[in-house]
Amino acid sequence: MRIPFIAGNWKMNLTHLEAIQFIQDLGYEFKNKNNIDVCICPPFTALRSVKNIIDADKLSIKIGAQNMHWEESGAFTGEISPLMIAALGMDYVIIGHSERREYFFETNDIVNKKVKIAFKHSLKPIMCVGESLAIRESGKAKEFVLGQVTECLKDMDIKNIFDLTIAYEPIWAIGTGKNATSSDANDMCSAIRNKVADLYNNSAAELLRIQYGGSVKPSNITELMAMPDIDGALVGGASIKVEDFTAIINY
Ligand code: PEP
Repeated sequence: MRIPFIAGNWKMNLTHLEAIQFIQDLGYEFKNKNNIDVCICPPFTALRSVKNIIDADKLSIKIGAQNMHWEESGAFTGEISPLMIAALGMDYVIIGHSERREYFFETNDIVNKKVKIAFKHSLKPIMCVGESLAIRESGKAKEFVLGQVTECLKDMDIKNIFDLTIAYEPIWAIGTGKNATSSDANDMCSAIRNKVADLYNNSAAELLRIQYGGSVKPSNITELMAMPDIDGALVGGASIKVEDFTAIINY
């Protein structure tokens, strides 16, 4: 049985002071639910402050980073290493978000390296895949997304697959207000699960949590979560509004 998993990607929003206010408000609305896993992914600058409050208030909310480098240290000005993220006590890390792929030229090969180093440091990756509108309209969305899954998981040890989350996020649905229909989203999530069964085995595929992301809101979460292969959501815009994020968690 897969426990539903809702994660919030704050992107480049909220200063650490705003983040402190947010987690206090969220903590007030949401305490110790155990039938769902909830994670928030603030910007690097707010990770420490938010984590301190989660720990002090014993909130059953996980926390993750939005990205990290694939090397542990070195001359990479402005980058953050997996060692640094792990030392902060982070649970998760988002890897290969489409905005990283589009604006910072992250390839499947880079995503593969980052996912591997995340596991090395006991960080659970939320690995993002998804097609552009042009690819969807060309009828090649499945081929493209399953190709991403295969390349991003290249040479990955099966023991790691149990701690992996895959987020299927069609790029045309991110931040646009247009979400994929729940049956289209489920269809892709089901194809991803079958691909993981081919690459590993059925029990790994059955345990794998697959999130849908792309304009998830309080008004569409219930329908999405009713789908058999959608185990949760990666939420962008609606995750920085306490009221909306709480409504999504309580779908
Ligand atoms: C995201 O950032 O991963 C995302 C899905 O954004 P939004 O919910 O705003 O579409």
